[in-house]
Amino acid sequence: MKTETTIHGLAASLHPARSARKLIGFVPTMGNLHEGHLNLVREAKNLCDIVVVSIFVNPTQFGPNEDFDNYPRTLEQDSHLLADVGCDIIFAPTVEQLYPKPQVKTKVLVSGVTDMLCGHSRPGHFDGVALIVTKLLNIVQPSYAFFGQKDFQQVVVVKQLVHDLNMPLEIIAVPTTRSADGLALSSRNGYLTAEQRQIAPTIYQSLLAAETQLHDGIALADVLETLKHTLCHAGFEIDYVSAYTPDLEHLTQFDQDVVLFVAAKLGETRLIDNLKVKFIAT
Ligand code: AMP
Repeated sequence: MKTETTIHGLAASLHPARSARKLIGFVPTMGNLHEGHLNLVREAKNLCDIVVVSIFVNPTQFGPNEDFDNYPRTLEQDSHLLADVGCDIIFAPTVEQLYPKPQVKTKVLVSGVTDMLCGHSRPGHFDGVALIVTKLLNIVQPSYAFFGQKDFQQVVVVKQLVHDLNMPLEIIAVPTTRSADGLALSSRNGYLTAEQRQIAPTIYQSLLAAETQLHDGIALADVLETLKHTLCHAGFEIDYVSAYTPDLEHLTQFDQDVVLFVAAKLGETRLIDNLKVKFIAT
């Protein structure tokens, strides 16, 4: 496994694979890797000849009061984990490599699917995501790029971007990896106190309860109210509890597949999760 820190170095490392028309898979991450990330890499290894994993804490997708400065940076530990799952190349550029001074003047704005959920709660977040994903896809030029369904809206935004800009690759969405108690793995789980960690799985448990209620015929609005109430009662400060179609279209009734979305804070730590609920026609 090689580690490249420059765009030029990565291009040189990828040259033999490109010349031999090998399938290049790409997994973008911000590091502090856990099993969720590693499962993306395993998927990439299954489908591709060469796998590149980027580790880059992207400043443009963090808001002014978010955790950019404190975001855990654990490159050495991440390198060991990636070597174990067969990653071929780590791309770990500096901020200056990707955002050279004096400034990047190009914006990549995806409209519509960024209006709601995290797009609404974290203004500018998806502009930063769209810019860095565009830059990384242009640098790596993979055949496939792998993203986690834990960040469901991010997958929709990236797929839209790739489609609209005619980028020659396929986006693969990988199911969420969870702890045994259901909590979606996240680098931010490390911020939780022991007590908060006990409460955190309530998000997924209440999403599963909501799924059962929907299948039992309880109205979507009532199910969302119960979900909010359960989370508030458990000690969460709710950012949003919402439902959309898998394409992030508005919906008011459970008359087609629905995705339930939660973003909620435990203390200072913001957690997100989602669950797709299948509509079963009777
Ligand atoms: P991050 O490092 O948080 O930017 O995440 C990098 C990639 O890993 C994104 O595509 C995430 O959606 C994905 N990811 C993060 N956590 C999980 C998880 N628990 N299960 C599956 N994918 C995940």
